[in-house]
Amino acid sequence: MLSEKIRIIAPSPTLAIDEKVKIMRAEGVDVIGFGAGQPDFDTPDHIKAAAIKAIEDGFTKYTPASGTKELKEAVCRKLKRDNGLDYTPANIVVSNGAKQSLVNTFTAICNPGDEVIVPAPYWVSYPEMIKLADGVPVIMPTTEENNFKFTVEDLKKTVTDRTRALILNSPSNPTGMLYTVEELKAIGELAVEKDFYIVSDEIYEKLIYDGVSHVSIASVSEEVKDRTIIINGLSKSHAMTGWRIGYTASNNALAKAMGNLQSHQTSNPNSIAQKAAEAALDGEQECVEIMRKTFEERRNYMVERINSIEGLSCKKPTGAFYVMMNISKCFGTELYGYQIQNSDDFCEALLEVAKVAVVSGIGFCADGFVRLSYATSMKNIEEGLNRIEKFLKKEC
Ligand SMILES: *Cc1c(COP(=O)(O)O)cnc(C)c1O
Repeated sequence: MLSEKIRIIAPSPTLAIDEKVKIMRAEGVDVIGFGAGQPDFDTPDHIKAAAIKAIEDGFTKYTPASGTKELKEAVCRKLKRDNGLDYTPANIVVSNGAKQSLVNTFTAICNPGDEVIVPAPYWVSYPEMIKLADGVPVIMPTTEENNFKFTVEDLKKTVTDRTRALILNSPSNPTGMLYTVEELKAIGELAVEKDFYIVSDEIYEKLIYDGVSHVSIASVSEEVKDRTIIINGLSKSHAMTGWRIGYTASNNALAKAMGNLQSHQTSNPNSIAQKAAEAALDGEQECVEIMRKTFEERRNYMVERINSIEGLSCKKPTGAFYVMMNISKCFGTELYGYQIQNSDDFCEALLEVAKVAVVSGIGFCADGFVRLSYATSMKNIEEGLNRIEKFLKKEC
């Protein structure tokens, strides 16, 4: 018999379609996948070299549970350089990916029944992580008209006496939208007034387009900084998803608590990956810029193509590598014998008929939309969008 806690965890909504794609590919079907949740680039060579050196140097033992002093110092230098923030190693906890950083955070701040506000469309793991920490996810809807961003008015209406934290994911997965400095200031002021934490997931900080730059909400004031837990990592910025290095920057008390938790739960993140992360943060950042530019070109093409197809539309995201495609005009129609009533139906028909895999918005609390990732080659993007166009013209 499974525990109650584990039974309330929903299975990953992207898994079913992944499974189907795998089966189709194994059968020799040529499927174009727009489901990728990670950069399609290889980890840069100088980062790999640092890991190889770590192995050769015998850097293969336990490190301090919350990460090496050297890596924490590199994180502090990064936060100063990129975000103008002053932290010391005592504020930093290095974990097995930003996912563990998030789980540590919710575990450290939630008492049973405490509410954590999750703006929707949201990254699928947030509500489940909050539930695992005995918190209550409170979903706060946003609209496409407002670029999938909540307003301070929305937030004021959602905050209660039990609000413990707000999740801020800017740029966002799945919408790619970015909050402006003015918006961040207003959110920060409310957090101070109502006394709640801001869990600021900045994992897509390096993937921002149109010359816009990232601002961390922690930098708007000292009071806001004290209430902010910055979540970041190397997965998306340096194409290092498999290395599993993420980190938090928070006030000392929280950092100490999360370090204690991690010391019992998983101990240190991989020692070799920590050395690689140090090289990534301290080394040349030209590699990051090259990847960013490539993503920007793909985004421009994808957004233009989608908006040129009859029946489809999308907003132009400012960051990350996803586009939320509005498919609601297809609802109530029949396509190739499939009754399209919701985003799941659309995804199923598109995969079966046109052999294109996209992620249904239902898992992100955004029925009417599907998510397309452009973390795939331009060639795939062109072919996939050709297929989608033919599919909607009923030419498949
Ligand atoms: C990818 C992702 C993460 C976590 O990445 P890690 O590989 O665990 O560092 C966190 N938040 C969002 C929104 C993501 O898309």
